[in-house]
Amino acid sequence: MQCKNCSKIIDVGDNFCRFCGSNQNNNKIVNKNQNDFWKSELGIIILTLIMGPISLFYLYKSNTISEESKKKLFIGILFFSLVVFFILFLSFRILFRYYIQIFKEIGY
Ligand SMILES: [Zn+2]
Repeated sequence: MQCKNCSKIIDVGDNFCRFCGSNQNNNKIVNKNQNDFWKSELGIIILTLIMGPISLFYLYKSNTISEESKKKLFIGILFFSLVVFFILFLSFRILFRYYIQIFKEIGY
């Protein structure tokens, strides 16, 4: 591999040239790939599982997913979020009723 600045031979994968010290931009490429992962279809699905509908923001900003896939993912994320919210709502309602019953039995 050649240095991008001075064109001397350096080891493959070196981030900096050992002769002139210039950055070979390997770090930037790695960071870019990591950022792009969260805008890929798999990244969006994982984000939805972790953060819910916040992933819609990443879906909107993604430039690696086709419009057709975006529409499908958008509907999928909305549906998934609604189901999760509904389950949470039911769980809280059951818990709430349970606590009210306990309070009544205690005598408040
Ligand atoms: Zn160099």
